[in-house]
Amino acid sequence: MKRQWVFAFEEGDGKNKMLLGGKGANLCEMTQIGLNVPPGFTLTTEACQAYLEHDELPKGAWEEVLKSMKDLEKKTGKQFGGTDNPLLISVRSGSSMSMPGMMDTILNLGLNKATLQGIIKLTNNPRFGYDAWRRFIQLFGKIALGVEDKHFDDAMAAMKKKVGVADDVDLKAEHLSELADQFAQIIEANTGKPFPEDPYKQLEIAIGAVFRSWNGKRAIDYRRQFKITREMANGTAVNICTMVFGNMGNDSGTGVGFTRNPGTGENMIYGEYLVNAQGEDVVAGIRTPKAIAEMEHDMPEIYRQLLELHNRLETHYKEVQDFEFTIERGTLYCLQTRNGKMNAAAMVRTSVEMFKEGLITKEKALMRIDPAMLEQLLVPQLSPDFRGKPLATGLPASPGAASGKIVFDADTAESRGMAGEKIILVREETKPEDIHGFFQAQGILTSRGGKTSHAAVVARGMGKPCVSGCEAIHINDIKRSATIGDTTLHEGDVVTIDGGNGNVYAGEVPTVQAEFSHDMETLLKWADQVSRLKVMANADTPEDALRARGFGAMGIGLCRTERMFNATDRLPIVQEMILAESIEERQAAIDRLLPIQRADFKGIFKAMKGLPVTVRLMDPPLHEFLPTAAQLELEIAHLHHLRDSLKALEELPETLKLLNPKLYMQYADGLTKLGRSMTDFKEGHLEEDVIHKKEKTLKKVRALSEVNPMLGHRGVRLGITYPEIYSMQIQAVLEAAALCAREGIEVHPEIMVPQVATVEELVRIHSYVKRIHKVVELTHGIKVDVKFGSMLEVVRACLRAGRMAQDAEFFSFGTNDLTQATFSFSREDAENKFLPGYVEAGILVDNPFEVLDQKGVGELMKLAVSEGRKTNPDLKVGICGEHGGHPGSIAFCHSIGLTYVSCSGPRVPIARLAAAQAQLMETGGAVTKNA
Ligand code: ADP
Ligand code: MG
Ligand code: MG
Repeated sequence: MKRQWVFAFEEGDGKNKMLLGGKGANLCEMTQIGLNVPPGFTLTTEACQAYLEHDELPKGAWEEVLKSMKDLEKKTGKQFGGTDNPLLISVRSGSSMSMPGMMDTILNLGLNKATLQGIIKLTNNPRFGYDAWRRFIQLFGKIALGVEDKHFDDAMAAMKKKVGVADDVDLKAEHLSELADQFAQIIEANTGKPFPEDPYKQLEIAIGAVFRSWNGKRAIDYRRQFKITREMANGTAVNICTMVFGNMGNDSGTGVGFTRNPGTGENMIYGEYLVNAQGEDVVAGIRTPKAIAEMEHDMPEIYRQLLELHNRLETHYKEVQDFEFTIERGTLYCLQTRNGKMNAAAMVRTSVEMFKEGLITKEKALMRIDPAMLEQLLVPQLSPDFRGKPLATGLPASPGAASGKIVFDADTAESRGMAGEKIILVREETKPEDIHGFFQAQGILTSRGGKTSHAAVVARGMGKPCVSGCEAIHINDIKRSATIGDTTLHEGDVVTIDGGNGNVYAGEVPTVQAEFSHDMETLLKWADQVSRLKVMANADTPEDALRARGFGAMGIGLCRTERMFNATDRLPIVQEMILAESIEERQAAIDRLLPIQRADFKGIFKAMKGLPVTVRLMDPPLHEFLPTAAQLELEIAHLHHLRDSLKALEELPETLKLLNPKLYMQYADGLTKLGRSMTDFKEGHLEEDVIHKKEKTLKKVRALSEVNPMLGHRGVRLGITYPEIYSMQIQAVLEAAALCAREGIEVHPEIMVPQVATVEELVRIHSYVKRIHKVVELTHGIKVDVKFGSMLEVVRACLRAGRMAQDAEFFSFGTNDLTQATFSFSREDAENKFLPGYVEAGILVDNPFEVLDQKGVGELMKLAVSEGRKTNPDLKVGICGEHGGHPGSIAFCHSIGLTYVSCSGPRVPIARLAAAQAQLMETGGAVTKNA
């Protein structure tokens, strides 16, 4: 069948944006539902592809254009190139994806010396005619012929100077006429050819130029930036549209509008217009437009037409519209419409209100919002009026904005934070032992590390803003200062970080607090009614748990016990446990930890009363709780030096003190600066003790050191080597549950084992649980139900899922580790060295640590789910890696039949919406954007 290259607005399929582009499809659709659109037609994106391939229009296309022009003449009663009633047209770009301002549009095409006179006679307005004429030459020269704007601007400036006016509108017809002649000369001088007077020649050149603008640098960069693929948009259409004139006097004008306020969602036309102006003037900002609200008073009849347009657009599109209009002598024309881009608050409000108005269904209300957008509403943001320049930019590692005084270590962050100061913790990179500093800081800033560095992951978990890898910052720990370019910041100076975009600002920038609006509650309640997947939260403390519950978490899917170990009051006991030389010594330390852990769990169970709490037994290798060898070596050397100096000092004849007190003081001073005051050091008589202890620790650190800690002695392997550690944790969970139950608090504890690779590991830990469960039941006189399950984060465990499920009531995929294991990538190395390059080169589409690798890791998950459910049909399966909060991964988890996803508290609302959308997509409740 012969391909059709051109569609009249009366004829084109309004749904076919791929073929007609968004603008073209909507011009067709609006025409067909009877809105006042100037007549026109669309050349397809297929014509564009053909043009770009062969550098000329495909066979038959030009004939179709000519025929369509004849039709246009019939519809409008005007002639293209005619002198009595000339037809002028615009030649407008538009692809299936909106790329605002990236491609070109030419207005007033068809003007030449002869048609111009027709226009002037017809409008009886020479100024209007010459203005349109000089605009056309300029636009055509720039876009179709590639003449630099600067030449025209210079000529315009010279003309204004000559006439003695400041504003374009003050130029008279004769000035504009002279200017048009100059413009034509500019074109001839720059292209070597006279300005094309033949309207059909103009049309042919313009169509080619618009098609070519698809491959302009601007457009290509834009598509790369916003990841617009060929499947999403392949070429631009060209829309030929009869010109209507907003610059025909004070009953004419032009403007842009939203059917609802895109900042708040309020149901009121929002936008701007200019009286007596052409479309480009609004955008160009030459004159200050008026708010549409003023139109009601200034042009009541037009305002009535605008309200009608508003209603008809919304009832038809069932979506907020962003539209362009022109008024020609009292008649309103709609020139474009598309779905309005709004901020998250407006999306949520319009979803709820449009449902209540009966405009859309609940399903559509849920489907139309991109879940990731909700993030804006869940964390503090910089005040929208702020326009300052950042000092530096790092990676947007955890969203939200925060201001505070900078400090360079966790202890200072803790002490100053507890004293009520607002703190930003600034480190080269953070370590697990910095955790107490996180608790007291408003935000975290690091100069090294990626979006999945320790700082980033922990900050996200806590819902605190974090900028990581801000390489421009150079931290000087000794001077307690940091430099960024020429700026030096001292400890205590205030900075503001924006974890949403990675910016760092000097001083305090006002922020606006997140608010969980009533509309948001409503929307998420609808989401929960729809979803099959449950949404749980990762939370390690009662505070985090409560917050997550506030976000609608249906339980805790991952409670990491080691975070509790890192608190300042516990770390020494944990270290004692690790350094213990005998079982008795170890047990003594463990006995001290038991009540602490029990209290921790009690707090969390209380916060989550009535909901399940999944506690993961200790996971990281022991050396993570000890200082590094390098740090210890430094400290020991320092202490040795101190001790030797002290000895030397003591040996100095007392007379030195008498003879040269100044020298003596200097010496003593030097010692003080070494770190400890002399009296402290002497009085404590600790020196040998301290050195000895540190040396012992160093020995242990060396003994524990691993070539590859990620694959080393961690998780269940520790539980097997040191049964007393896991036993204590299990006992703490079960006793806490029993104590809560006694107090009448409904508890649903679940115990989860990390890093399981073999069935036997799981069976052994299960036997601990069974045994301790019995003991606790006897000693506390109350039976609490506990579920027992396994993390699936080792490849072998996935392969053995069928057998594992006989001993596990639930599985939880730890997709961070599982991804590492599946790819054999060590995450830090991968992300720092080759992953970005892989993504750039297209070897991988995404960083698999950010976006779940459905084809590989996902395949293992599918296998584990189906094998597991074969032997245990009631098996609960969840995911607790960071992927659990990513909408795309959530859809996948839904599709393979997981029971729940678990993510950081602040991502819970996002996950709730994503879970509902996954269900709607599956059941076909999905509604396309313009249905
Ligand atoms: P963009 O995609 O950059 O918005 P458009 O094709 O929508 O480009 O054109 C830009 C502006 O030019 C429109 O907003 C409108 O004001 C004006 N315009 C385009 N076509 C016409 C026309 N036929 N009559 C009057 N004004 C037009
Ligand atoms: Mg437009
Ligand atoms: Mg893990």
